[in-house]
Amino acid sequence: VVTRDDRLFLTDFRYVEQAEEQVRGFEPVRAERDMLADLAGRLSGRAGFEDHHLTVKAFRKLEDKAGDGVELVAAGEVVEGLREVKDPAELAAMAAAAELADAVYEELRERGMAGRTELDVARELERSLRDRGAEPAFPPIVAAGSHGARPHAEPRDVEIPRDTLVVVDMGAQLDGYCSDCTRTFATGSIDDAALEVYELVRRAQETALEAVRAGAACREVDGAARDVIEETGHGELFGHGLGHGVGLEVHEGPRLTKTAEGELQAGNTVTVEPGVYLPGEYGVRIEDLVAVTDDGCDVMTPFPKTLVSVD
Ligand code: ZN
Ligand code: ZN
Repeated sequence: VVTRDDRLFLTDFRYVEQAEEQVRGFEPVRAERDMLADLAGRLSGRAGFEDHHLTVKAFRKLEDKAGDGVELVAAGEVVEGLREVKDPAELAAMAAAAELADAVYEELRERGMAGRTELDVARELERSLRDRGAEPAFPPIVAAGSHGARPHAEPRDVEIPRDTLVVVDMGAQLDGYCSDCTRTFATGSIDDAALEVYELVRRAQETALEAVRAGAACREVDGAARDVIEETGHGELFGHGLGHGVGLEVHEGPRLTKTAEGELQAGNTVTVEPGVYLPGEYGVRIEDLVAVTDDGCDVMTPFPKTLVSVD
């Protein structure tokens, strides 16, 4: 509960000790067993609530317990808006997460993928992140061949063949902050048509990176990549937005999409991840995580973007 004078962190008896140890900037309060009622009793006047998180049921109860003197006002995304610009310590935490994930990619390159199942590779990625002291920021995607044409494919218990493309999307969470990086690998040699699509996505990705800077309109950065892909007639195969903010959560603001409002600011951390997905054949996505600066951006995900062949 944040008021003009107080910042309270309500928790129940199970977490009081931990809260006292870990919570910074808020006063830990041991709440009554009915926490929502306890919280409602502390409100007065206009009270904003996170309408993008509160369930309808919890809202009705809050309204009921808060009584007549309290006006509840939907105030979703207020905190998230503040979070979009990272301070130097946050940027350092994200760079460390990205660097750790990069080492996991290097390990994957050495270890290889052909002949192993997607699930086996995905589990190894998670294990490797944990061995290095991080958590997976999200369940890794490992998607070979036609499965790679699904942007959010779940790893299957299916062997990765030779001479195919494999989309790998993975990030680390370290000290609370996430990273996010996609590379598309080849397990051997692939045909010229697939190579051409790979180079197209790489060109679109690099064109968009050049468009990233403080003051750039979010939708124009998306458009920079989209134009490159549309020129080749593959526009309808790039069905998602160019990128998203990353921070405490792996998906947060600002969004880089066709319809996004607003401009990038220095200190935003966003992904740049165009993809081309040919249903039934294969998919290609290349994703970097970057920190926006006044005159461009700093790329936090250094793994090579030339097509890397792994066995
Ligand atoms: Zn990703
Ligand atoms: Zn992403």
